[in-house]
Amino acid sequence: MVQSSVLGFPRMGKLRDLKKATEAYWGGKSTREALLAEGKRLRLEHWQIQKEAGVDVIPSNDFAFYDQVLDHIQLFNVIPERYSKHNLDPLDTYFAMGRGLQTSSVDMVKWFDSNYHYVKPALSDNQEFKLAADPKPVREFLEAKEAGIVTRPVILGPVSFLALGKADRGSSINPITKLADLLPVYVDLLAQLKAAGAEDVQIDEPVLVFDLAADVKAAFKPAYEKLGSLGASAPRLTLATYFGDIVHNIEVVSSSLQSLHAIHVDLVRNPEQFDTVVAALGPKQTLSAGVVDGRNIWKTNFKAAIEKVEAAVQKLGKDRVIVATSSSLLHVPHTLDSEKKLDAEVRDWFSFAVQKLSEVVVIAKAVTDGPAAVSAQLEANAASMQSRATSERTNDPAVKARQAAVTPEQHNRQSPFPTRIAAQTEHIKLPLFPTTTIGSFPQTSEIRVTRNKFTKGEITAEQYEKFIEEEIRKVVKLQEELDLDVLVHGEPERNDMVQYFGERLTGYVFTTHAWVQSYGSRCVRPPIVVGDISRPAPMTVKESKFAVSITNKPMKGMLTGPITCLRWSFPRDDVHQSIQAQQLALALRDEVVDLEAAGVKVIQIDEPALREGLPLRAGTEREKYLKWAVDAFKLSSAGVTDSTQIHSHFCYSEFQDFFHAIAALDADVLSIENSKSDAKLLKVFVDSQYPREIGPGVYDIHSPRVPTEEEIKGRIEEMLAYLRPEQLWINPDCGLKTRKEAEAKGQLESMVAAAKAFRAKY
Ligand code: GLN
Ligand code: ZN
Repeated sequence: MVQSSVLGFPRMGKLRDLKKATEAYWGGKSTREALLAEGKRLRLEHWQIQKEAGVDVIPSNDFAFYDQVLDHIQLFNVIPERYSKHNLDPLDTYFAMGRGLQTSSVDMVKWFDSNYHYVKPALSDNQEFKLAADPKPVREFLEAKEAGIVTRPVILGPVSFLALGKADRGSSINPITKLADLLPVYVDLLAQLKAAGAEDVQIDEPVLVFDLAADVKAAFKPAYEKLGSLGASAPRLTLATYFGDIVHNIEVVSSSLQSLHAIHVDLVRNPEQFDTVVAALGPKQTLSAGVVDGRNIWKTNFKAAIEKVEAAVQKLGKDRVIVATSSSLLHVPHTLDSEKKLDAEVRDWFSFAVQKLSEVVVIAKAVTDGPAAVSAQLEANAASMQSRATSERTNDPAVKARQAAVTPEQHNRQSPFPTRIAAQTEHIKLPLFPTTTIGSFPQTSEIRVTRNKFTKGEITAEQYEKFIEEEIRKVVKLQEELDLDVLVHGEPERNDMVQYFGERLTGYVFTTHAWVQSYGSRCVRPPIVVGDISRPAPMTVKESKFAVSITNKPMKGMLTGPITCLRWSFPRDDVHQSIQAQQLALALRDEVVDLEAAGVKVIQIDEPALREGLPLRAGTEREKYLKWAVDAFKLSSAGVTDSTQIHSHFCYSEFQDFFHAIAALDADVLSIENSKSDAKLLKVFVDSQYPREIGPGVYDIHSPRVPTEEEIKGRIEEMLAYLRPEQLWINPDCGLKTRKEAEAKGQLESMVAAAKAFRAKY
């Protein structure tokens, strides 16, 4: 029979219970025992949900108090001395590595192209590995077993563990060279799992979707010859890959992974890898077919998924195919049942983690017992697919007509940069080394409380508007006192840089409980793009216009760019993302033009998510993405006259691998995060003879510390080694919303003073 399986389940619980419990513990409001008990309760509850849904292969060790990679760091004792030396309780050492302890935390980076962040293993030159006593995967397997649930433990494979790591500070080791030292730890762990009763283990090697360095690629053979040859002393291994295809690494599968029980591939993201992967399987190997999307919230199209699985069964037979989620369900919200306010039409299109469990079960049953066995489910699913395909929301003729009429010229500004900048200089009248901020000013608790009152209907729209105007007035006055050159309105009306826009656009819906873990205890609640996007009315003009009216200084309008609006939402899966980006771009284009008409001379379009959308592998996929992403930005920004200045902002400054795209945006001014990076990163601007203007952040907005004028001058001096004085803007790294008012004021005072000192010198 065809089994159903799940690669991992969200950990937070229905009501973000884990977040609440960990934060209470960190804040000293609860005990370690209480936290451990809550973790146990959640694990049991989640296993139970999966069992009741009828899932055949249920994961364990997918739970983590902070991050699953950090679990492995501790499991293998890859704990930098600066954390181990305090002799803390293991749980506290673990949190210290994740969250920082006097010194900063271990680096946290994006988990592939998801919005989840993992803690990067940091190996020292003399790294030794040691399996923790009472290893977590064994402990949690036994915990489930005791509750009567047989699970398949999930562990991160040795090649990925090392390849995703780096040399710790002060070390220069290439982690993959430590493979031979790490393998005995895996052998030991697998033996302990087997002894505990685990017949199967899921071993994740997601790095197989990357373009691999030769040494990493070569590591699979020794690793899996060893782990695959343990026979009866180890469980069977299912090697899992996700978020990409493995065709470019297929010889690894055919040459190094033949002794493994099964290979899991993501057939939602890359269905076309099916034939190649099936052909590379050994004669007894099983295919774990990831056909239920672990990354998005849409109901699975049963018909299409069943066809895929049937095709596998044709080639391999029922016993060599497993139906699976494409990846762990960590990346989708817990359950749709918590959503009480969703419109019934769209609700019927969604499937969150709990609902996806039934999906793998139904698909497996349809293939095992024939469609008649699940006919009611198949019919309901087909009706739901039909409703979505034909809904007015997904088919707005006006939006489609406008997209069809988009011309290449609409992507370009009227004149090239030299002409534009001359017009802008005339229109905006800026000094050398102009100063500005990135948009938000401190979001005080008063702002949040008042916004909540308004959302709950406790104050009227008029009262709220008055309040916002007062906030804008305060921020404008402050900036005038500080003598900044290009002012902002401070964004007090914005709850979030994507949600705010989504709420003003058609095509978006919002949830109340659909949280997804981003890192540690932090969760985000992405809006969902359900249909064609358009802008029924201006979104930000009222506030910007008010701000313009109360000052003589140039005012900058603030928008979130099309790619960021898309990337920080759950996108549609029924039309290509480039189409959704273009719809967003057209809506923003209207906003940009309206802002210009309202007297806003400078307009900033934030695109912090541009880079994270980059396909994982270099090459044509990446270039295709950059083309449509850049086009969307240009379409959103190019409707203005030459004299209106377009800025864009990025929360990073590592552009090396896609600088051509950054340059192609043709923004008049770029502001980037740079205060903590090496100023050398600015060299790309020199090498490419970048003609336009740049504001590399001169201080870190994440820190409450007020830098001195001297420090900022030093930073500017470093930047001037790479950038021409006429090119350089002086601004912070990012928005100031998380700072206290006094901190922001002190920091900006130093910044303006430093800019003025340079102005006097040049
Ligand atoms: N304009 C936004 C702000 O200032 C930009 C935030 C961001 O780049 N993440 O808050
Ligand atoms: Zn930023």
